[in-house]
Amino acid sequence: MKAAVFHRPGEPLTIEEVAPPSIGSREMLVKVSHCGICGTDIHASKEGPFMAPPETIFGHEFTGEIIEIGEELTAGEFSLGDRVTSLPFIDDKTIGLGAITGAYSEYVKVGYDLVVKLPPEINNRDGALVEPLAVGLHSVKMAGSVAGKTVLIIGAGPIGLTCAIWCRFFGAAKVVISEMSEARLAMARTFGFHDFVDPTGDVNAQCIALLSEPPAIQFECVGKPGLMQECVARAPKRGLIMGIGVCDHPDTIVPLMAFGKELCIQWAVGYDKEDFEFTIDMMLQGRISATEMITDIVPLGDVPTIFEALKQPSTQCKVLIDLDQS
Ligand SMILES: [Zn+2]
Repeated sequence: MKAAVFHRPGEPLTIEEVAPPSIGSREMLVKVSHCGICGTDIHASKEGPFMAPPETIFGHEFTGEIIEIGEELTAGEFSLGDRVTSLPFIDDKTIGLGAITGAYSEYVKVGYDLVVKLPPEINNRDGALVEPLAVGLHSVKMAGSVAGKTVLIIGAGPIGLTCAIWCRFFGAAKVVISEMSEARLAMARTFGFHDFVDPTGDVNAQCIALLSEPPAIQFECVGKPGLMQECVARAPKRGLIMGIGVCDHPDTIVPLMAFGKELCIQWAVGYDKEDFEFTIDMMLQGRISATEMITDIVPLGDVPTIFEALKQPSTQCKVLIDLDQS
């Protein structure tokens, strides 16, 4: 099968012919239709503690059709031809970040217990957005109740944006977004957000102007050293700070400041199967949508070029690989 393969940092992915995954008796093979390119993939292609091993095939935001079912599963709930997405894990191993071949390829294997069927109303393109939406959903659920509370989202990349979408969904009093990229601000406007602060200016003063109070909940979706302390300094008494952005450098906070305000810092990553199911349910009911996040759809052959471009700041939000046209 054709796949886009990562070899080492600083080098583009290469399109190669590789052996398709062979499935175990409790696994299934999926012919990939669409796969999202994720910031995590870009991150894992760079030098650092998150770097993926050589020969990794990325891709954990995928949809496709079941074309083979392990023998222990044949009487189970799945049939050949079912359209599915899946949480990117089989047992404890991750799909698309090293351990198991991901979906920047024609075929991907999945387990069975984390596989979710797509209803006919949701096409394969939108199905590939279930995963990023589920990340936002899980983050917002981890924040507890956001209803009636003021929220600041720091960073409006795909994950910050999905956090904002779910905060509004769950009844946040007001959602303010801190972002400096014009393209990301335009994207946030597309989703109906209009309260922005400019992170190059005085964020606290801008927050007070928009919210009349410091934000009760802050979602730090950037992961840059220093931002956590800014959140601590900005938070009101008993404020909540959500650590969503991936920061792989040591970072400093002043505990006394957090202590004095009895702050809570909660980290969140990933999702559970019920987050996928709830997202699909809400998409089906037309209550949540992320289609506008898609800024480009490319065939597999274009992946090396677009992946390189995404290593630099760009106007892209979510780029999907369309394997059906590859
Ligand atoms: Zn992702």
